Amino acid sequence: MVKVNNNFQKLPGGYLFPEIGRRTRAFQAENPPKSIIRMGIGDVTRPLAPAVVEAMVKASREMGKQETFRGYCEETCGAYDFLRFAIRDSYRERGVEIADDEIFVSDGAKSDCGNIGDIFDRDNVVAVCDPVYPVYVDTNAMAGRAGDYDGERWTNLVYLPCTAENGFFPALPERVPDMIYICSPNNPTGAAATKEQLKVWVDYANEHGSVILFDSAYEAFITEPGIPHSIFEVEGAKTCAIEFRSFSKSSGFTGNRCAYTVIPKALIRDGVSLRDMWNRRMGTKFNGVPYVIQRAAEAALSPEGREQSMESVRYYLNNAKVIREALSGAGLTVYGGVNAPYIWCGTPNGMGSWEFFDRLLREACVVTTPGAGFGPSGEGYVRLTAFGTYENTCEAMERIKKMLSRQHFLEDLPVCFAHSLRSHTQQT
Ligand code: PLP
Repeated sequence: MVKVNNNFQKLPGGYLFPEIGRRTRAFQAENPPKSIIRMGIGDVTRPLAPAVVEAMVKASREMGKQETFRGYCEETCGAYDFLRFAIRDSYRERGVEIADDEIFVSDGAKSDCGNIGDIFDRDNVVAVCDPVYPVYVDTNAMAGRAGDYDGERWTNLVYLPCTAENGFFPALPERVPDMIYICSPNNPTGAAATKEQLKVWVDYANEHGSVILFDSAYEAFITEPGIPHSIFEVEGAKTCAIEFRSFSKSSGFTGNRCAYTVIPKALIRDGVSLRDMWNRRMGTKFNGVPYVIQRAAEAALSPEGREQSMESVRYYLNNAKVIREALSGAGLTVYGGVNAPYIWCGTPNGMGSWEFFDRLLREACVVTTPGAGFGPSGEGYVRLTAFGTYENTCEAMERIKKMLSRQHFLEDLPVCFAHSLRSHTQQT
């Protein structure tokens, strides 16, 4: 009889978002007339840039003509030169030299973050930030690298706590990991690492022969000067890092599906080029992103496409500002939202993150994401996203402010916090 991959049985029941969906649907079923505002899942809402749409239409017409029809993409790394060159040039603009055959185009950073495990041994020690984008954890659990789940943690993972005390950037751990996931700007905390912070990890990885798996899916949201958009802006990174990037959030491609992974040729482990291994893996298991989508991605990197896409990024960042100001004005502690579309909001004085989630749902009809769903250090926080419409964002903030100022809400809270909330509410 066939044996299944038993690691799947170890995964805790239900991924975070299905559970949020379940609670939201149950609430909606009990309260049909109430309009719920979703600030939980990180999907974009703004349409594609006109330059991108134009490129897709043009490419679709090419596909309908004998002379310009394209089948499998047979070029290097599963991507057409035009797109790899455009990506290479976008790195060059920030002073980073990446060869075009170090760039691998795919259908998503989620797939790449998960699939990259194919080229690593099962016995590697994996480090993840805590809280963390759950894909890094679950994919390693499926591969058998995480050990067993004890109800809160995986026994073989090295957890790197990211807390208010360390500015949501991890310190070096005692146990040396082989694979280190770092996401900056961060989902869920919204924190963005400085060059100095990343340099510590780059030096550490080079010293110990580890590999940093750097997810910069949100680099387009960086507004502060001096924050690196790529790990390859940090000296020494080419011998220890793999970078994942995506068009999803920078150009609204969550439905289009296009991303890329950069593996420098200088990255050698066990005497083997990781770039060559990934090339082999992609050639075997992937037949490339559709031509129409590659043309769309190329257009997103054109000056016109970039400016149009950045309009949406600025729109979301303005929502982030509205959220930050409203929540901090109401007496809550907020982080993120400056270099990222995520706001990491402390719950009122020690309230559990699922409890605060439920109360925001039931009393304000606003869906957030409980921080505990991202890892043990996420307890005491909820994540809000800035990807909604401006109108919904403002309405959600009004509802939350009202909820926090309601007498019964204050009565449930410890006295000292209720006092501070009351004084904040009186000011606004
Ligand atoms: N990486 C991070 C940190 C994300 O938050 C997300 C999506 O939410 C992704 C990767 C997935 O990107 P893609 O849409 O390219 O699969």
